[in-house]
Formats: sequence, C-alpha cells, structure tokens
Amino acid sequence: MSTSTKLIILLTVLVGSVMIVGGYYRLQQRHALLVSALQNELHAHALTLRIALSDHYRDGRHDDAQQLINKLSENPKILGVVLFDANGNVAMLSNQLVAEEISRPLQVKEVINANNPVFASHRIAGQEVTSILMPFQMSDIERGAFEIAQPRSFVEADFMRARRDITLVTISLFLVITLGVLLVLGRNLARPIRELLTGAEALGEGDLNYRVIVPAGNNEFSRLASAFNRMADRLSQQRLLAENTAAENLKLEQKLLTAERLASVGRLAAGVAHEMGAPLNVIKGRTERLMEQLAPLSEKTERNLTIINHQADVIARIVRQLLDLGRPLNLNRQATSITELIASTIELVEEDARTHHIRIDHRSGADLLVNGDPGWLKQVLLNICRNAIQSMPQGGTLQIETSNMLVMEDGGTYMSVRISDTGTGIPASSLHQIFDPFFTTKDVGQGIGLGLSISRRIVEEHDGWIEVENNALGGATFTIWLPNAEAPNQTLAQKQERHEYSNSYR
Ligand code: ADP
Repeated sequence: MSTSTKLIILLTVLVGSVMIVGGYYRLQQRHALLVSALQNELHAHALTLRIALSDHYRDGRHDDAQQLINKLSENPKILGVVLFDANGNVAMLSNQLVAEEISRPLQVKEVINANNPVFASHRIAGQEVTSILMPFQMSDIERGAFEIAQPRSFVEADFMRARRDITLVTISLFLVITLGVLLVLGRNLARPIRELLTGAEALGEGDLNYRVIVPAGNNEFSRLASAFNRMADRLSQQRLLAENTAAENLKLEQKLLTAERLASVGRLAAGVAHEMGAPLNVIKGRTERLMEQLAPLSEKTERNLTIINHQADVIARIVRQLLDLGRPLNLNRQATSITELIASTIELVEEDARTHHIRIDHRSGADLLVNGDPGWLKQVLLNICRNAIQSMPQGGTLQIETSNMLVMEDGGTYMSVRISDTGTGIPASSLHQIFDPFFTTKDVGQGIGLGLSISRRIVEEHDGWIEVENNALGGATFTIWLPNAEAPNQTLAQKQERHEYSNSYR
C-alpha cells in the first residue's frame, strides 16, 4: 500500500473519529436541552396551576379545580393532571387518568412536607412520562400537591429528529472532508510522488531522456522534481560523454589494430616484395631489350612482349603496394597544388579510360594548395581513379571535382577532392569493409585489396579523412578531405556541404 494511501486512510479515520465523538457530544447536549426545556415548560404550567388552585381552594371553589385540571389536560402535550390531598392520596384526576395507577402517597407526602417541587420519570397509562410534583396551599394550614405529567414521546420525537439531523450533517461533513483530503493529497502528494517514482524507474531502466513534470509553486515537490530533472540532465550528459569517449577509444583501437595488422603483414609482404623486385627488374629489362633487339617485330611477337611488359607492370604495382604497406610513410609535406596533382594523375589513367570508353570530367575550381606529400597524395588519387575505372567496364564518366574551404570545430581548414563514377557502385554490405587490407571483390589478378587501405593510411597521416557513398543514380563517390596549406574564411554553404558529407560513410 502506498504511503499516500496510508496517509489518506489515517486522516480519514482520524477525521471520522473526531466527527463521531463530536456528533455524539452534540446529541447529548441536544437531549439535555430538550429535557430541560420540557422541565421548564412543566414548571411554568405548575406555577400557573398552583396560583389558580390556591385561589380556588382559598375561596372554597373546589369544583372549579376539577375544571381547571381538565382544561389543562386538553393541552396535547400534557397527558394528565392529578391532585393529591394533604395525606398524599389522589383527590382529583383529569379525565383520562386512573387513580390506582398513580397512587404513591409516600413520595407525594415527602414533596408536601419539603414544600419543594420535584421532577420524576415513571409510567402512567402505559406511557413513559416526565412529571412535576408541585406542593400548593389548600387552606391556611393544609397543604396538598398536584402532578402534571407530560408524555416523554414528545421529547423522544424531538430527540430522534435531532439525531437524524446531526447524523446527516456529520456524514455530509465527513464525506466533504474526506473528498477534500483525497483531492488535496492526491494532487499535492500522490501525483508528484507517482511522477517521481516513474521517473526514477525510467532512469533506472536506462531511459535518461525521461523528465518529470515539475508541479507548480515552490514547494518541496517542485524543488525535488527540478532537482531530479537536473540530475537526469547531468546523467545524460555524462552518458553522452562516456559514449563519445568509448566511440573514440574504439576508433583508436581499430586504428591501432589495423596499423598493427598492416605493420605485421607489411613486414612479411615487404620481405617477399623485396625478393620479387630483382627478378621483376630482370623480366622488364629483358623484355625491353628483346623489343629493341628484335625490331622490327612481327605482330604476334610484339603483342606477346607487350603483354609480358604489361603484366610485369601489374606485378610491379602489387610489389610497390606490398612495400608501401610495411614502410613508414616519412611524409615530405609541402604546399602542393591540388590541380596539378589531379592533372598528373589523369595523365596516368587516361589511356586506360579511353580503352574502356570512359570520359574524364575534371572540374577544377580555384587552384588550392594542400599541405601534403605530393608523391603519396598522387598515389591516393591514382588508387581511387583506377578503382573507379575498373567499376565501369561498359564505359561511363569519371568526374573529379575540388571543393572550397571548410573550417572545422578545431579551427583547421580543409579542402576536398570528389571522385565520382557511374559504375557498379558498392554493395551496402561491403561499404564498411572496403578500407580493410586485402578486402577485394575483384577477380584474381585484378586487385589484392590494398589500394584503399593504403590510401586511407596516407590520407590520415596527412590529418585528413576519406568518405565514400553510393550515388543516387548509380556508381560511387569518394571524397578525400585534406588540410589546406592556407586558411581562407569558411562560408555557410561550405559548412552545410560538410554536414552533408558527414552523413555518408567514413
Ligand atoms: P582492390 O582494388 O585491389 O580490390 P581496393 O582496396 O582498392 O582493392 O578496393 C577494395 C574494394 O572496394 C574493391 O575490390 C571493390 O569491391 C571496392 N571498390 C573500390 N572502389 C570502388 C568503386 N569506385 N566502385 C565500386 N567498388 C569499388
């Protein structure tokens, strides 16, 4: 049972008890009042009757006394009147009374002797009555008494009416007070407690966004609710902080893990690559010599030697990638023209693009300078452009675009190179894997899955990052963000541009 329910029951019981005791006390008072009013009335009748009787007896008009008491008995509130002689015996009765029923000479004698009126309660003619026994002078020496009896039923009826009224008033008051207590406690106690309890449970279950309704006013509950909400604010801030820190740590761990993996694989690969370098040089050298020596070549021989040369180039590229994997980058940072970097990359891939019916669309903006190593950055552009070309075996468009400046929260300024193709795009399930070393979807001989992981490493060593997303109309877009060598101002449009990119996969 809740505390507020207990409090409500306790208050109700207390109020109920007080009202019952109060009601009983008022009823008793009313009863005493009614009895005293009855006695006063009887006393007033008796005083009047005593004067009249004394006058009649003194004048010897005894018969008129009978008429007098009969007259008084006609009063509906009076049951009857009895006259007693000096010996206490019944001398005269009002019409409806029977002498035997009211004969009590001893008590009457006492009243006559004491000469003081007395009130009594007894039964006459089958009815409970309250009566007054009043002495009076029958003559100068003789004293008699008379009794006026009033049925108690009048008092009882009044009393019953009073009891009904008091009970009704008590019950109504009790109901009103109980209802008031219920309303006041419910509004000011039960509801705020329930609200705080729900809030505490929600927080306990991890819903740190739950806030309780703060009751109006400046009472304990409104202060408690405000304090509760402030605590929830702080908790959710701390959780956000903890989550961010955990995410940062996870990123760092993943980076370290990748770096470690790359380093160990790189060491192994570099060993192998090193051993492959000399024979590869021999193959290339000999092929070129043969081409010179055997000139002019037959078509078949020239094709075969070109294939050997080309394949040796492919192996050389793989060997270079394997060597890159293991060795430290040792960046030679300098202000490098991004337009020149793109132009020299296009030179390297345009032959391949032409062969595959791919149009290269270079949209250069202002010639921006990046703070980076031109050799390594060209390697990145080359890897991404080659992937784009390979993703468009049926031809398409390779678009290269440079963006303006972007100012980050840390104050650094960045520029971007967007490389888009109209090729196959990247399956959503592979988006998070393409930067992993040795992840490839290409056929054997087409790629070993190192291009993007090396590219990311190079870009991150430059304090930049790479984002990738699929285009709405097909194909993929890679965006390389690099720190700028200068620091022009950022515009709002560029900020929004950054926001859009940050929604894509990094
Ligand atoms: P490799 O080219 O040797 O496979 P990368 O690391 O360069 O290795 O690329 C990894 C994978 O990413 C590719 O095998 C391919 O599945 C996917 N990929 C990269 N660029 C694109 C692109 N422009 N379009 C479609 N898929 C791409």
